[in-house]
Amino acid sequence: MARSCDAHGGGALRGPSRLLSVDQALAAVLDACTVLPAETVALDAASGRVLAEDAASDADVPPFDRCAMDGFAVRAADATAAPARLRLVGTVHAGHVFEGLVGAGECVAVMTGSPLPAGADAVVPVERSRPGEGHVEVLEAPRPGQNVSPRAEDLRRGQLALRSGDRLGAAEVALLATVSRPTVRVVSRPSLVVVPTGDELVDASEPLRPGQIRNSNGPMLACLGRDLGCDPVTLAPPVADQPEALRAALARGLEADVLLASGGVSRGERDLVGEVLASLGVRGVFHGVSIQPGKPLWCGRTDRCLVFGLPGNPVSALVTATLFAGAAVRKLRGVRDPGPRLFPARLAEPFVRHAGREGWLPARVEPAADGLRCTPIRGHGSADLVAAASATALWVAPQGRERFEAGDVVSVLLASDFAER
Ligand code: AMP
Ligand code: MG
Repeated sequence: MARSCDAHGGGALRGPSRLLSVDQALAAVLDACTVLPAETVALDAASGRVLAEDAASDADVPPFDRCAMDGFAVRAADATAAPARLRLVGTVHAGHVFEGLVGAGECVAVMTGSPLPAGADAVVPVERSRPGEGHVEVLEAPRPGQNVSPRAEDLRRGQLALRSGDRLGAAEVALLATVSRPTVRVVSRPSLVVVPTGDELVDASEPLRPGQIRNSNGPMLACLGRDLGCDPVTLAPPVADQPEALRAALARGLEADVLLASGGVSRGERDLVGEVLASLGVRGVFHGVSIQPGKPLWCGRTDRCLVFGLPGNPVSALVTATLFAGAAVRKLRGVRDPGPRLFPARLAEPFVRHAGREGWLPARVEPAADGLRCTPIRGHGSADLVAAASATALWVAPQGRERFEAGDVVSVLLASDFAER
C-alpha cells in the first residue's frame, strides 16, 4: 500500500500537499514493514519477546496425579460414613514417591505436590481430620478425586503449550520452563537510531546561547524506543540543518532497522530531511498525515530500514512516534496485533476544538464506576511538554467534529499501551 509521496519536491518551501488519514497512514506503515528474523535466546532472557516457534509439551502436565493439599491420601469409599478412623501407614513428601499401596482402611500423610500414593483416590485436608496415634480420624466424607490434580490435567504430552506469535511474559516463561525449553526461538528486537536535527539544538548539559533550545526529542525518542522494545538504541548528537551534516548522520541511521529523525520535515527553508533521505535512496511511503499534532510526518524505507521523519515540535514528535513508530516496532517484533489499542472512555467535561484534523490530544484517564473517565489537558499546543508529561493517555477527537459534551464516549490510547506489549 505504498503511497505516492511528494517528499522529494523541490523549491524553497517543501511540505506535504496531500494528507493521508491516520488510519491510512497506519496501514501504510504496517504494510511497509515485515516481522524480523528469529533468534535463539536463553529462557531467562526471553521476557518481553514474541515466540517464533510453537512449543509443544515434552510430558504430561502435571506429570503424575498430584496432591493439591497437605493432608491424608485416602480411598474415598473407606470414609463415606464420616467420621471414619483410618490406619496411618506412611508419609510422602513432595519430590518423593510412596512405594507401597494404600489398602482398605488405610491412609498416607501427604504434602502439597506429593504424588498421590497408589490405591488412594482423594486427599482429606489436615483441617478436615483429627490425627491420632498411628491413625487419623477423617471428619468429612471425601469425594473421589477431591484435592487431587490428575495427571495431564493441564497439558497432555505433545499438546501445544504456546504458539508462534505469543508474547512472553512471566506466565509464558514459566510455562516454557514447565515444558522443558531452556532456550527458545523468539523474534529479534529492532535496532533503533535517533537523529535529532536543528541548528537551534543543544544537549541538556550545555548552557543556552541566544536562540538556542535544549534537545528534548533526542532523549525522549530514545526512551520511547527502549520502552517499545528496540535494542540496541543509539542516540546521535543534534545535527545542524546542513545537507552534508544531515547526509552523514542520516546515512549512519539507515544501518539500523528503524531510524527516527526529528525536525526538518515541514515547509521551512531549512527543512531538508525528506530531501536528504531521498538522496540517500530512501523510498517515500508518505509525507503528511491529517493528524493534530504531527501533520508533517514523513515516512519512508530502504530494504533494511524503516524511516520516520518526525516533526520537531516535541509533542508532535511524541504523538507520531508513539502512534506510527510504535505500531511499526511492534510489527517488526512480531506482535500479533501491532496497531494502537484503543479503549472507550467518557469525557469528564465539555471540550471545543477547531474541527480540522483528527486530534490525538493529551488527557488524564482514570477508572470510574462506569468505565474509564477522560479529562482533556488544556495545554499550549504541540511544544508543551508540561502538558504531555502530566498526561496518562491520548484521546481521539475525530476529524470534523468541534463540540464534545461531558459524558460523550471517545477513544483513548492509554500510556501503558505506548510501551512494549
Ligand atoms: P521543525 O520541525 O524542525 O520545524 O521544528 C519545529 C519546532 O520544534 C521548532 O520550534 C524547533 O525548535 C523544535 N524542535 C526541533 N527539534 C527539537 C528537539 N530535538 N528538541 C526540542 N525541540 C525541537
Ligand atoms: Mg528545524
